Amino acid sequence: MNKTGKVYLIGAGPGAADLITVRGLRQIEAAEVVVYDRLVSHELLDHVSDDCELIYVGKRKNLHVMQQHDINQLLIEQAEAGKRVVRLKGGDPFVFGRGGEEVDALIAAGIDWQVVPGVTAVAGAAAEIGMPLTHRHDAQALTLITAHRQNGQFDVDWPLVLNNRQTVAFYMALSCARDLVAELLARGKDPDTPFTIVSSASCPDQRVETDRLGAIVSILENNCFKSPALLVMGPKPRSGLSSMNQLTGALALESQFG
Ligand code: SAH
Repeated sequence: MNKTGKVYLIGAGPGAADLITVRGLRQIEAAEVVVYDRLVSHELLDHVSDDCELIYVGKRKNLHVMQQHDINQLLIEQAEAGKRVVRLKGGDPFVFGRGGEEVDALIAAGIDWQVVPGVTAVAGAAAEIGMPLTHRHDAQALTLITAHRQNGQFDVDWPLVLNNRQTVAFYMALSCARDLVAELLARGKDPDTPFTIVSSASCPDQRVETDRLGAIVSILENNCFKSPALLVMGPKPRSGLSSMNQLTGALALESQFG
């Protein structure tokens, strides 16, 4: 009888390799094929067995190594060949990870599958800088949202985003951040609302800036944030920032005097 394959969709976490779950790591160790994305820590790939095949399908904005349809097809073919396939994705597979499309394709093809959750970017970022995502009095909800534009217009549910007493995390929104901030202010969001930009959360090159919504544009203009980055509106970071600023200051002194 032919061996039947299975696809494991695994969340690799936001960047730091040790933020993967134990279950996810065990599946990587047991995999015969690993199909992975750009945002996945390469340290995790050191855990595959010697005869495991690694297939990179990474995506970057407007630059797809492989189209989603072809990725779905690849997963199906590998599983039909009887392989134990790990589909390794940044963060959590079901949060803006197109995991839903992959699962639907696997179901349609009659392939067995399982999902292993991961730490989504905003949870990773929040932990790094001590930024509670909900708070009994200040934030009763957490909204994870993208800020897509279609024909130059934002395709955003504004009433949802403008609700107070919540945290809003904008994914994939760095390239339109300035216009987004302008739109939020124009639509009446309080300019004193805390606004944070976190790039490469949990990675060695992590960068964080926080200011009032009304003042964040100058930070965006004067800093070059690299992708991946998140914009978070609502909560104030409790830690990390001052120590990070002190650290930056110390490094600046070192390079001045050292
Ligand atoms: N499935 C992923 C999200 C994939 S969409 C998750 O659950 O986190 C890619 C977007 O996620 C990026 O454009 C960015 O907004 C965010 N992102 C992913 N990793 C990040 C990181 N380490 N730091 C900041 N933002 C990150």
